[in-house]
Amino acid sequence: MQETDKIWMNGELVDWADAKVHVGVHGLHYGSGVFEGIRCYETPAGPAVFRLGDHMQRLHDSARLLYMEIPYTVSELRAATHELVRANGLPASYIRPIAFYGYGQLGVSTQGNPVETVIMNWPWGAYLGEDALARGITASISSWKRVGANTIPHVSKASGVYLNSMLATTEARRAGYDEAILLTDDGYVADGPGENIFVVKNGIVRTPPLSTSILPGLTRDAVITIAQDLGYVVEETPLIRSDLYLADEVFMTGTAAEVTPVRAVDDQELGVGPITRELQTHYLDTVNGRSERWSHWLDVVETV
Ligand code: PMP
Repeated sequence: MQETDKIWMNGELVDWADAKVHVGVHGLHYGSGVFEGIRCYETPAGPAVFRLGDHMQRLHDSARLLYMEIPYTVSELRAATHELVRANGLPASYIRPIAFYGYGQLGVSTQGNPVETVIMNWPWGAYLGEDALARGITASISSWKRVGANTIPHVSKASGVYLNSMLATTEARRAGYDEAILLTDDGYVADGPGENIFVVKNGIVRTPPLSTSILPGLTRDAVITIAQDLGYVVEETPLIRSDLYLADEVFMTGTAAEVTPVRAVDDQELGVGPITRELQTHYLDTVNGRSERWSHWLDVVETV
C-alpha cells in the first residue's frame, strides 16, 4: 500500500502515520467491522468517484446487519471522502472506508464499544495485474464454500466475512490460478473473493441472483444496466459449475477488478469473448469519464 498524506479518522484529517488504534480493539479480534472498496478515476472533469453515494449507503446497510450504528450519515461520509481526495491530491485512487467496533471491553458482545470510522485512499492499479483486463485471468472452483445466508449475512461487506475470501484466494493462488470462484453449500455459483460473476451463452448474459450468497456488487449492477441499455437480455438466474465450463464467455466484475475476462475455469479454456470486450469498453469509458451515457454515476470532486 502506497503511503499518502492524510487519513480521515472520526471526523478529522490526521497524518498517515498517526492513524492508529490499540491492539485491544474489538474489530481486530472478532472481525466486527464493515468496509467499502471504491475507485476514484482521473476524468476530464477532475477526480471522480464512481457511485460514491451508493457505496456509502451499502456501508450503512452492512453496518445495520451487524447491529452497528455508524456515527456519520451517508452524506457526511460522502463529504468526508471529497475532503480526503482533495487533501491527498491524487487524481486517481482506491478509497477504503471502514467502520469497526473499537476499544472497550473484549467479550464477544459489542456492548459499550465505540464505533470508529476511517477513510483512507491510495493509488492502486489493476487488481488482478496489468494483463488481466486485456488477456483475461484463470480461475478455479474453490473447495471453500461461500458463507451461507444464515451463517453470516453475506449481503454485509463485513470484515469477518473476508476470511472466506482470503482462504479461497490463497488456495487458488497456491494452485497456480489467478482467482477463485466460490459455490454455495448446495452447489450454485456464488461469486469470487472480491468479484461477481457473469456468464455469456448464446448471446444472453447471465449472473447469479442476489439470493445466491453474493455481495450485491455495484459494478454488477452497473454492468447489468449497461448490457440492457445496449440491448442484451440479462438474466439473474441460478448457475451451476457446468454453466461455467460450457459458457461462451465468463467475466468477473468488481470495483477493484472492473470488468475482467475469465479465459479459463479450472482447466476448461474459454478465451476472451466479444460481449465481454464490449461491456468492458463501455464500463471503462464510463468510469474514466469518456462517455456521457452513464455519467450520472460519477461524483466529481471539486479540487479548487
Ligand atoms: N463479491 C465480493 C465478495 C466482493 O468482495 C466484491 C467487492 N466489493 C464484489 C462481489 C463486487 O462488488 P463491487 O462491484 O460493489 O465492488
